[in-house]
Amino acid sequence: MSSFSATLFRCVLFSCLPGRASVGAAEKVDYFTDNGYGKTVSTLQHPAAEYFKGVTYVAYQGPHEDPYVAAYHHGQGTWSGPVKAGVNPMGLSPDQVDPGALDNHGRPALTVDDQGFIHVIFGGHGGLFIHGENKFGLPGGGRQIHAVTEKHGDITSWKILDNVSPFGTYSQWVKSAHGGLYLFYRHGSHRSDWVYQKSTDNGRTFAPPVSFLKSKESRESPAVYDSWYAWFDPGQGDTITASYVYHPCGTSPAHNSHRQNTYYMLLNCQDSTWTNVKGEKLALPVTKEAADQHTLILATGREKSNHGTCHVDSEGHPHVMFRFPGGGIRYFRWDGLAWQKPTTVADGQGGGQDGDFIIDSPMQIRMLLSQSGNGGGAIGWWDTLDGGLTWKRGKSLFSLPSCTFEPSTLVRNGLPEARMLVGGVDTQTHLYRKMYLIGDHGALGRPAADTRHLGDRLETIRLMPQTREKEEARKRKKAGLSE
Ligand code: ZN
Repeated sequence: MSSFSATLFRCVLFSCLPGRASVGAAEKVDYFTDNGYGKTVSTLQHPAAEYFKGVTYVAYQGPHEDPYVAAYHHGQGTWSGPVKAGVNPMGLSPDQVDPGALDNHGRPALTVDDQGFIHVIFGGHGGLFIHGENKFGLPGGGRQIHAVTEKHGDITSWKILDNVSPFGTYSQWVKSAHGGLYLFYRHGSHRSDWVYQKSTDNGRTFAPPVSFLKSKESRESPAVYDSWYAWFDPGQGDTITASYVYHPCGTSPAHNSHRQNTYYMLLNCQDSTWTNVKGEKLALPVTKEAADQHTLILATGREKSNHGTCHVDSEGHPHVMFRFPGGGIRYFRWDGLAWQKPTTVADGQGGGQDGDFIIDSPMQIRMLLSQSGNGGGAIGWWDTLDGGLTWKRGKSLFSLPSCTFEPSTLVRNGLPEARMLVGGVDTQTHLYRKMYLIGDHGALGRPAADTRHLGDRLETIRLMPQTREKEEARKRKKAGLSE
């Protein structure tokens, strides 16, 4: 039995223990809602969840690709919501059963401001021509929309604040050490700069977008545009870190999704300057040439890389993880003088790895990762005690035998009992997903009767001809009548 199967076996047994799978007369289940939809959460649109004054607020993509928010009240051990926080302009009606029909870029990122109002940003895939001139790139689709709760600490009613650019995608919230709320995003489709907008009044107004990472025609070839995928988080002091990868956006012979290299730099929020890891100032916006010269961690050659997450240790040194589609998750650490040789985490342990990590000390790091194998999925720790030179599998927090998980980043300011929001992906014909909030004691579920939020959507889906076709194909496959 592989160690993965062993973990699954233990967890299947564990979930059968009395008091865990069922509580009293009301059957309790591990998920808190059944109305996730498509690619519900991601580590890129983040945070998906934040803890504030006794409550963990979570946001995910629900029916019609709309943003939904729920709240877990730690004192009482109860859930409220989910509540729809707005309407995604990219959503199709009725809900679709073909995964390719969904855009998924507009899934929400959530933050809670100092006064307890909950904000979500959603709906964007670069905006449209009808939204006006895009000064930093080309439109793509949807519209970046900012919604906030009407009352603090209350997710039941929402309003739209028309105070950010419509051209955003991969929207990310970062709070700086001195009260600034930053919204980072790519200002349009692939061929667009990355920008931020800063608010000093809890998101009620924002300064105009500032471009810091440039998209332009490549010096290598006029058929290629320099494009980027970036991830942001607070650094030490009043700084924000950016870890990113390069996308050569080409048209000849054809466009593909190739991404390569790994990069790191830092925003000083006091004077809005950017520096590389050595503290050298960068000219703005940073171009491909400047990035290669000053912010490169690793040139990967033709090997594909993808964004991960980044945090700094008590000495202010960055630790970064990137995902390599052909080779799992790799961990990089700045030791003060140089980037340590990257190591592979969870080597040879199945696919689907993604997640986030916690730095306990410069040498002790814990990664909370999703993994899949044998049709099932797990969320569990991988630990290092030697600054990432070697990694060991730690405790598995939650697993299911016939469902894999799409993770988000760690809950911002999260408690140990609620560390990560994940969407379950099983083999249903439809695209509705169960949503789980995972912590040190497993998933924070609720009575089954309170998890049903699809209304008559399942019936609508059942009557669609595409659903019948998919069902027939599945039956044929099961009967061995097709490949
Ligand atoms: Zn492209």
